Amino acid sequence: MLRSLIFFIFLLIANGLFTPAFALDLPKENRVPGGIAIIELPESKTTPIVYYGKYRVTVVKDQHWLAIVGIPLATQPGEQTIHMQTDHSENDLHFNVADKQYRTQALTVAPRMANPSKQDLRRIAIETKRIEAALTHYTESLQPAFLLPQPVIGIPSDSYGSRRVFNGEARNPHSGMDIPAPMGAAIKAPANGIVVETGNFFFNGNTVFIDHGHGLTTMYCHLSKINVKMGQRVKQGDVIGLVGATGRVTGPHLHFGVSLNRAMVDPALLLR
Ligand SMILES: [Zn+2]
Repeated sequence: MLRSLIFFIFLLIANGLFTPAFALDLPKENRVPGGIAIIELPESKTTPIVYYGKYRVTVVKDQHWLAIVGIPLATQPGEQTIHMQTDHSENDLHFNVADKQYRTQALTVAPRMANPSKQDLRRIAIETKRIEAALTHYTESLQPAFLLPQPVIGIPSDSYGSRRVFNGEARNPHSGMDIPAPMGAAIKAPANGIVVETGNFFFNGNTVFIDHGHGLTTMYCHLSKINVKMGQRVKQGDVIGLVGATGRVTGPHLHFGVSLNRAMVDPALLLR
């Protein structure tokens, strides 16, 4: 009886009718600007190396090799190409990005935050380079997690991707998730990683960047206090700082950004 039951289960698995549960946590997929594409790769004995433009893409092994591709907000809808190298071949794979219309959000901030002075612009240019460096690590030795708890308690506003108009003038779209929370609320690292940059930035205020490995980096902006130092290893749940209202803000909140292969994707796709 037991033998025939085991044989029956074996038949189901062999025919693909019953899939054993896998521990692998994947983000939600949404092939739109600011979304994530999960692309099945051909067989390879070694981990395929994948690039999307000039940025390396994280690859995980489920039943097949999967590339988890961050799609930049500025991507034009249509066919996109990733370049892949396996142990025996090198080729391009294509996927399609659909259009998504994000809404427009008008905000009023201090005049200097909408129209920075010449001196501010010089500062912003230096900071932009630091931010770029923080978001382009590809650390092989760290194992990223793709399903994250929310870093602070609160109800996220649905403003990712919105076209922003500050004091009546169009500016860059919103590339993260805003979570309103009381001043001083604890911000917890949603996954293990290494702090790769911290500081006070013109627009972002007090900010922390955590490298989680394989091109996944998270950022935390507008903090009232930073609790970590550059180079520090953090574990999931460590308090990395406190909610504040520094930088370009209309009130205390956490701006939570998620970068995958240098694309600031919608953090909601990775939240549990
Ligand atoms: Zn924000």
